[in-house]
Parts: sequence; C-alpha cells; structure tokens
Amino acid sequence: MAGRTVAVVGGGCSGVLATRELLRGGDRVALIEPGEPGGGLAYGTARPWHLLNSRAGAMSADPDDPGHFARWAGCSPDEFRPRAEYGRYLRDVFGGLSGVDVIQARATGLTASGVALEGGREVRADEVVVATGNPAAAEPAARRDHPDYIPDPWRPGVLDAIGSDVPVLLVGAGLTAIDVVLTLTADGRRDAPITAVSRRGQLPLAHTPVAAPPLPLRETPGNLRDLVRIVRAEADRAGDWRAVVDGLRPIIDQLWGSFTHEEQEQFLRHLARPWECHRHRMAPPVGATIDGLREEGRFEVRSGGIRSMTAPPAGGLLVELEAGVQWFGAVVNCAGPGRLPAAAGSFAGSLLDAGHARVGPHGLGLDIDADGRLIGADGKVRDGRWVIGPLRRGAQWETTAVPEIRSQARALIDQRK
Ligand SMILES: Cc1cc2nc3c(=O)[nH]c(=O)nc-3n(C[C@H](O)[C@H](O)[C@H](O)COP(=O)(O)OP(=O)(O)OC[C@H]3O[C@@H](n4cnc5c(N)ncnc54)[C@H](O)[C@@H]3O)c2cc1C
Repeated sequence: MAGRTVAVVGGGCSGVLATRELLRGGDRVALIEPGEPGGGLAYGTARPWHLLNSRAGAMSADPDDPGHFARWAGCSPDEFRPRAEYGRYLRDVFGGLSGVDVIQARATGLTASGVALEGGREVRADEVVVATGNPAAAEPAARRDHPDYIPDPWRPGVLDAIGSDVPVLLVGAGLTAIDVVLTLTADGRRDAPITAVSRRGQLPLAHTPVAAPPLPLRETPGNLRDLVRIVRAEADRAGDWRAVVDGLRPIIDQLWGSFTHEEQEQFLRHLARPWECHRHRMAPPVGATIDGLREEGRFEVRSGGIRSMTAPPAGGLLVELEAGVQWFGAVVNCAGPGRLPAAAGSFAGSLLDAGHARVGPHGLGLDIDADGRLIGADGKVRDGRWVIGPLRRGAQWETTAVPEIRSQARALIDQRK
C-alpha cells in the first residue's frame, strides 16, 4: 500500500537503500539519522587504503541496474574500489532523491504512532523501518578501564594515537583486524610487530583478480552434514572453492532456514568462522599487502584465546596467550558483533525493553517474520514495523552485504503492494 509516511531509523547503507525504494514506491519518508546519511560504519569512516571486499559489479544501489556503481566510478565491474568512494556514491544516490525529510537526531524508541527522538520529540509515521546496523562488538577481553585497551577501533583517531614503536595485539582476526593492520602500517613507519589472536587463527582468504562464475550445487543437501560433504566434493571437482562458495550464496538463507536449531548451533560453533573466511574475502591488493607483512614478520596470527590481561604500572598490558605472557603497548578489540540482548545497542535495546521486539534466533539479531516484520515480546508480528540489514541475522544468515540489503529494501515495497 503506497502513499504512506514511513520513518526510516538509521541512514547508513541500509537506510539509504530503503529510502530510495520507498520513495520509488510512492511513500513519503522521514529518515532519522544523527550523522550524514550515506556514511555508516563500513563506508563513512573508511581510510583510503580500505577497499571494498566485493567487486564493483556487486555494489549497485539499484537492483534493476547492476552496473550502476561501476559506471558511476568509471571502473570495470571486476575492480575493488575504495570504501570511502562507495560512501561518496551512496551520498550521491541519496542526494538525487527528492521528497525525503531528513531528521538529524537519534531515535530512542517506538511509540504507538511513530518514533520517539532524543529530547522528547516524536516523528509520526504509519510505518517504521529499523536500519540501525550491526549489534555492538563482542568484547572477549574487555579492559574498558584501561587507556591502552581500545574497545572500538572505528572511533575516529583511536588508532592514530598508538605509537609505531609498541607491539600491538588485535583480538580477532577477521576483516576488522585486517582494516586495523592496514591503518597501523599505512605510513610505513611502524617497526613494532602486530599480533592477531583468534580461536582458530584463521584470516579471511583473498579473492582472485578475475572472478570465476558461481557454481550452483548439483545436489540438494538434506542437512548440515550433507551440505559440508557436498560443498567439499564440489570444491574438489571445480578446482576453485570460490566458485562453489559464491554459488551457495543465493540459497544460503533457504539452507539456514531448513536447519534445525541444533544444526544452526553446530554451524555457529564449528563452521561459521571458516564460512566467513571463505565468503567475506579480502580484495587481492589487500591480500598481497597482508601476505607481505606476514613474510616480513611485521604481522603474525596466532590461534587460541586470551587467558588473562593485567596492567603493569609502566603502562601497556601484559597478556597471557597460549604461548605465554607478552607485553603489548595497545590491545585492540577486533571481534565481530556480539549477541543480543547484551550487544543490542541503544535503539534495538529500547525495542526489547519495551516489548516491541524480542531477541531472534541465537541472539544474533531481532526476531522477525519471513518478510522482515518485527515480532514483539508477546510473539505477535508487528504490522508495519520492519527491520532491514544486519539486525535480521539469525532469522536469516546472509543479511549484511549490499546485494542482500538491496533486495530487502526492494522487498519493502513489493510486500506492501
Ligand atoms: C568494515 C566493513 C566493510 C564492509 N565491506 C563491504 C563490502 O565491500 N561489500 C558489501 O557488500 N558489504 C560490505 N560490508 C557490509 C555492509 O555493507 C554493511 O554491513 C552495511 O553497510 C550495513 O549498513 P547499515 O546501514 O545496516 O548499518 P550501518 O552502516 O552501521 O549504519 C547504521 C546507521 O544507523 C544510525 N543509527 C544508529 N542508531 C541510531 C538511532 N538510535 N537513531 C538514528 N540513527 C541511528 C547510525 O548513525 C548509522 O548511520 C562491510 C561492512 C563493514 C563493517
């Protein structure tokens, strides 16, 4: 049903793409965002050396025109462009929209007739789209009280304050850790080593310079064990596992939904991390830089956990790793998103507190129905209250990258016709 007023909470990639689709469908949109729309975590604060981990051809804002971003950037669809450039693209897409009312404020919760803002104001709306991004980061080794522990590497300036002569420990070895390594080594002056520690000691793998076409599975898996067997066999046969992983992407949500709760738990315990390493890959130039740093001994990755962390009087942190106790001048939290309710963040947290939402499967996001509507604490679907982007995780699996967010945004109007 078009022609309604929709409040979109959050103006990152998800909020911008949702706004674009809703306007296209004839709705009026009030976009609530405290910063500049089109920034967000991934693209708003990226430095020049941070590249997209997807090819330009995958990043169009327009589901009807897959080449839109590559044409805008004047590049080949195979290229990996800077994330900051993608942020400029999103802001350009947003700037080209007419009829959106931008409300520069932080939303604090839902009301019966719309969205509450800080300061007691309210935005009245028929429908609401929650697009506030990832849950807060997990903190496997929190020392929030200590100046040399950095809980959030995305906060502007925190990495620049780390001396180039002190060894640094990164807690986590995923794409956030890669971003941090690139920033800490960007000026070439760092002579002290960087160590990343994670349970498995596995770094993300790299893309090939030219993409192989995705290979769909030739058998339909009946359960998780079946899926692992089929994927291994297909990857051996194809000679390039990337094509098999990419072929799984369109059906991964269907597979995730077909697993039992226990199978999903098993996947999260044993396979989620290897899956992320294979699925969310580094751009080839980033992969080459990381390989170079490892060969030079400037960056190392260790498996295992952190047993303890103590603060010596002279500064820095003494960290007990599997191999023994070591001193680091700074410890940076690079863990992925934490679990709800603890990591819900202020807006999703307020929805949980008020019973407008409940925690979704495995605490990975908010609970939603098959179309993305919130499910309240009473188990009832909240009509006209939608979630898009990373907070759908758990109910869905693939819900954080642009192609999936773009489809979710498009579905907002398709489902309401
Ligand atoms: C480092 C990184 C690199 C990535 N690279 C790629 C890539 O190369 N390719 C790809 O396809 N995907 C990539 N992704 C994934 C994906 O694009 C992001 O997850 C996506 O940008 C999510 O956007 P979002 O708008 O949902 O969240 P965010 O970008 O986090 O934006 C959320 C917005 O909500 C606002 N907000 C929060 N709380 C409130 C509130 N209470 N009131 C109002 N506004 C609020 C915030 O200010 C923010 O602007 C990457 C993700 C990260 C983190």
